[in-house]
Amino acid sequence: MATSSNFFASQLAGRVAVITGASSGIGRASALLLAARGAKVAVLARRKDALDTLVAEITGAGGEAIAVVVDVTDQASVAAAAAQVAAAYGRADLVFNNAGVMLPGAIEEAKLAEWEQQIDLNVTGVMRVIHAFVPQLVQAAAEGATVDLVNTSSIAGQYLYPYFAVYTATKAYVSHLTRHLRIELGPKNIRVSMIEPGIVATELQGHVTFQGAKDWLAGAEKTMEFLQPENVAESVGFIVAQPKHVNLQQVVIMPTKQGI
Ligand code: NDP
Repeated sequence: MATSSNFFASQLAGRVAVITGASSGIGRASALLLAARGAKVAVLARRKDALDTLVAEITGAGGEAIAVVVDVTDQASVAAAAAQVAAAYGRADLVFNNAGVMLPGAIEEAKLAEWEQQIDLNVTGVMRVIHAFVPQLVQAAAEGATVDLVNTSSIAGQYLYPYFAVYTATKAYVSHLTRHLRIELGPKNIRVSMIEPGIVATELQGHVTFQGAKDWLAGAEKTMEFLQPENVAESVGFIVAQPKHVNLQQVVIMPTKQGI
């Protein structure tokens, strides 16, 4: 009898996945899961050492992966990454557009550099990846492949959190963008989806410097079990494994004890 791991091992055979923000957290866990289910994965981020370690882990387990060092705040870097993926695998048919940063702060502190950093990565960075990779997705769809663009938004894109105004606005952008792109790309047989997680235990919280948010996160950790990156990766794997005519548009995934 086939075991469930045997069943999953070939589920994404033939797919070529690009994952941004793959050096840690949700992206890393998703790269491992997609590779374990048979996809060739191109893992993208700035930290080469972390990407090389991830590729070694995937190939050591019998999967296929390449590390692509990229800074998604630099259009030329993202364009070069797309060329590298095309040279290695022909074209991508799955893009997990996931890199992001969260820097909460009181608006009156006027930390313009942090606002710009979040907008440049979470909004414009998402658009740079779309600019570079949508042509590959269009090509893959024209060839008859199953094709996915999955964007990482957040529950923050729906709800209101004091001191998270800029971050939550960047995620609201991603959610609304996703809904619009689905209307535009769906007719071309490209599925467009978003995941909207609640709190996930990753490096994301480690970049927070605003004391009010640090206190809030520390309190939250005492009252609930945060999601793990692997829990979110399961949702990504579920979205992309649907039959070709099924587009799971939006997945909200929360820690059981998290209200908003
Ligand atoms: P991590 O901090 O662990 O991951 C962020 C990833 O983005 C890293 O791989 C980082 O790699 C990459 N990255 C950052 N800046 C750049 C850049 N300029 N160019 C390329 N890559 C970059 O956090 P998460 O895994 O939690 O975050 C992934 C996504 O999930 C984000 O969009 C985040 O907003 C979202 N999210 C997270 C939640 C949470 O509670 N953790 C909840 C909801 C959504 P490197 O530094 O090597 O470049």
